[in-house]
Amino acid sequence: MGFFDKLKSGLGKTKNSFGEKISNVFNSFKKIDENFLEELEEVLIMSDIGMQTSVNIISQLRQRIKKEHIESEEEIKNVLREEMEKILDIEGKELKLDTKPSVILVIGVNGVGKTTSIGKIANRLRMDHKKVVIAAADTFRAAAVEQLEIWSERAGAKMIKREEGTDPAAVVYEAIQETKKQEADVLICDTAGRLHNKKYLMDELEKIKKVIDKELPEANKEILLVIDGTTGQNAIEQVKAFKQVTEITGLILTKLDGTAKGGVVIGIVEENKIPVKFIGVGEKIDDMEIFNAEDFVKAII
Ligand code: GDP
Ligand code: MG
Repeated sequence: MGFFDKLKSGLGKTKNSFGEKISNVFNSFKKIDENFLEELEEVLIMSDIGMQTSVNIISQLRQRIKKEHIESEEEIKNVLREEMEKILDIEGKELKLDTKPSVILVIGVNGVGKTTSIGKIANRLRMDHKKVVIAAADTFRAAAVEQLEIWSERAGAKMIKREEGTDPAAVVYEAIQETKKQEADVLICDTAGRLHNKKYLMDELEKIKKVIDKELPEANKEILLVIDGTTGQNAIEQVKAFKQVTEITGLILTKLDGTAKGGVVIGIVEENKIPVKFIGVGEKIDDMEIFNAEDFVKAII
């Protein structure tokens, strides 16, 4: 299966609910009027797109129906696709790794796919002939380090680790020294995602960022928040919580191979103006692609 097919078969569940629901609305209203639009708005909200974003999309649709004399179901779907694409297609979708070295800090709650995504990104960078160092700064569980080690080996990247319970910032510090020594191109830092202890998380991330800023003041820094595409509304809360703690330069949306809830990202991007940089569609090392708004929207509707 190609990448788009995987995306489509995963988001197919979204597609079914989306496409089908839109068709249902179309079939149950004789003409395109306010009631029709209200019902359609309801469909968007129920698909996790978020209240304000759904209202905005429908308001655009309302204007365009008047201006462009839109009548058919296919035309309506086209407008929805275009409006969603407009929202998702914002600046900054490419990783900014212009300096040598550059740093990627990967954050997100437990289980969303941080470690897996790091392996996939490291592999992509290696295929671009970049030398990568990985900091195993999720020192909370020994198993997390072992898992990252396997991914690092697969991606041919050197990983820096310390024993369980070490200060994550100390691991990052050591990894920075290794990055300098090796004259590596990119340092990727894994982190633990203990959102239930916000104070701790904040201190931990703050400290990591301080070390990076102090040791590599000139480096480009990407702070990527990983979101599990199957979590729906909860993802919005996660973005909010992490935004209170740190700046976020991009999103990685994972598990789109098995979700009915891809719609949530549309609201997140509109409300936060943070671009989606990558999407994951499986557990294998090459199951990740640079985000493409057009393909994503096509797969949804
Ligand atoms: P972390 O706790 O954030 O580091 O998450 P992990 O990288 O350990 O991933 C948690 C689980 O999600 C693992 O079983 C991964 O194999 C799985 N996973 C990660 N990304 C994807 C994806 O894109 N698709 C699927 N189906 N599973 C994924
Ligand atoms: Mg992990």
